[in-house]
Amino acid sequence: MMNVRIPTGRFAPTPSGYMHAGNILCALMAYLSVKSKGGKFLVRIEDLDVPRCPRSRSREILNVLDALGLKSDAPPVFQSARTAAYAAAERALSKCAKLYPCFCTRAELHAAHAPRSSDGESVYSGACKYLDAQQTAELSAARKPCTRIEVPDRTIAFVDGLCGEYSQNLADDCGDFIIKRSDGIYAYQLAVVVDDGESGVTEVVRGADLLSSAPRQIYLQRLLGLPAPQYYHIPLVCDAFGRKLGKSQGDSAERLLNEFDANTVLGGLACAAGIIPTFRPASLDELTEKFSWANVRRDAIALPEKFTDIP
Ligand code: GLU
Repeated sequence: MMNVRIPTGRFAPTPSGYMHAGNILCALMAYLSVKSKGGKFLVRIEDLDVPRCPRSRSREILNVLDALGLKSDAPPVFQSARTAAYAAAERALSKCAKLYPCFCTRAELHAAHAPRSSDGESVYSGACKYLDAQQTAELSAARKPCTRIEVPDRTIAFVDGLCGEYSQNLADDCGDFIIKRSDGIYAYQLAVVVDDGESGVTEVVRGADLLSSAPRQIYLQRLLGLPAPQYYHIPLVCDAFGRKLGKSQGDSAERLLNEFDANTVLGGLACAAGIIPTFRPASLDELTEKFSWANVRRDAIALPEKFTDIP
């Protein structure tokens, strides 16, 4: 029998600051995209970096989603509770790829002579790749290493549902990348792949700032034998005056919900994204029915003036 995968989408916020209208818009697009296919919507709290992600922020995010009806179809997953799954993935990766400790300092990584990708990002040089046992022992005495995974000199290409074709040669564009930080916290790139895989996620909707992470994630999916989801990277959301939204209180989703009812927030954001033509209240059911990726803006998304905090 064919293994039919239920359309499954997710919203995966990092609770390190206030949730803002751009985050709600991302959650709304993820919800509408998967619900318009009759699928499941999941929420995952990406609190890997526990000290930077207070529980109160996670609660705020869940409250905002609740107030808007963007409810998870399963209990929210907290990445802070998933270390064992990431460790198992690290063991699986160690059997099919080269993982190695890296002792480079931030200054060494970003030094002027460090290799750069075509867009100016620093590319890991592989400095620690061939350390012998004695060098590793000496360096270990001085500092804790992070763990990197070797990448192939091969192009990884995919078609993003909004941005179109995108490809990267991992060796040229980022080099061997970190899967576990030197403080023992698993890296976002690994955690996201493990969690999306385990939850059966078939589509990933998130901000365009993460487009360049997708090839690394696809590489890990292939090594772990996981299917690649369909990606939709949505443009960054700015306020009505073109200013970048911050994680400060002024731009917070909670402020928006104090001033407007849920359907006005949903309708206003859907209008900003291109789902409905005019600013008006709209229910999730109506927006689910109207949703089509063909209508979602591909350039910057500007919030309605009414949603912009004028200091
Ligand atoms: N946690 C990431 C963020 O808040 C999103 C990760 C993802 O959707 O893959 O920006």
